[in-house]
Amino acid sequence: SHVPQIELNNGVRIPQFGFGVFTIPAADTAAAVRTAVEAGYRHFDTAQAYENEEGVGEGIRQSGVPREEIFVTTKLANDAHGHDNAITALEGSLQRLELDYVDLYLIHWPLPNQDKYVLTWQGFEELLRAGKTRAIGVSNFEVEQLERLAGESSVVPAVNQIELHPALQQAELRAYHQSRGIATEAWSPLGQGELLADPLLSELAGKYGKTAAQIVLRWHLQIGNIVFPKSVTPERVRENIAVFDFELADADLAAIGGLEAGRHFGPDPATFRG
Ligand code: NAD
Repeated sequence: SHVPQIELNNGVRIPQFGFGVFTIPAADTAAAVRTAVEAGYRHFDTAQAYENEEGVGEGIRQSGVPREEIFVTTKLANDAHGHDNAITALEGSLQRLELDYVDLYLIHWPLPNQDKYVLTWQGFEELLRAGKTRAIGVSNFEVEQLERLAGESSVVPAVNQIELHPALQQAELRAYHQSRGIATEAWSPLGQGELLADPLLSELAGKYGKTAAQIVLRWHLQIGNIVFPKSVTPERVRENIAVFDFELADADLAAIGGLEAGRHFGPDPATFRG
């Protein structure tokens, strides 16, 4: 594969295309990761809440690809906010992954009702200094919460991982991220698969000789998002990464832009309280 890398705001490079393991059962995760590595994936997105970190580590080891050639992200469990808890929780992840460090550690949800994410972030800054993670970032943060971190801490998040796909394009957050040097990671990049029946996407699939999933993934890449679609079907795992041999024309990017519908497939950060 020819996956480009994006340089994060601390100089660490992340493959722009990866593999998400949300909802993959623990017992199936190592095999899924192995299939993905064979297909060319070098970036894996897991979380403490997914309960499959062991499988991610196992799959990477079984693949035989050196650790330093693979980018691993995990995320803090919602019940582990707070300075000390955030540190202990990453130690647990490293034990389950059987790794000495992760590449990226994210606050999974801000949980503004608990009002602990600034304290949590201070723990994250310590983990970064200690080399337990090469970069730190957040997920599901809104502008207001990013502004608060900016005012009360010193490390700017390397990424904000948010729900983003053609039906929820997140124009405001993307512009804010760009102005602050925060990379945008798009979760549920395929709208959990439900978006793919859209007639415009079928039409573009026909025009380019690609699938609707490939059209959507190519749209993400061309507007600068980092993506990690999930699939447990080996054929689709290979199909999804086969998006580096064509380019969507500007008019077609704009047409996909017209699919904005403010539609959430997952929990909406405006109302999610853990
Ligand atoms: P996704 O948009 O990647 O969709 C996955 C689903 O789409 C699959 O289960 C399958 O049904 C379908 N699909 C995949 N490839 C296909 C193809 N080629 N053709 C047809 N259908 C296909 O959804 P996701 O798993 O929710 O998101 C991807 C990753 O994002 C997750 O695995 C996880 O790592 C991350 N994520 C993070 C958060 C967060 O709160 N930070 C929330 C949800 C997901």
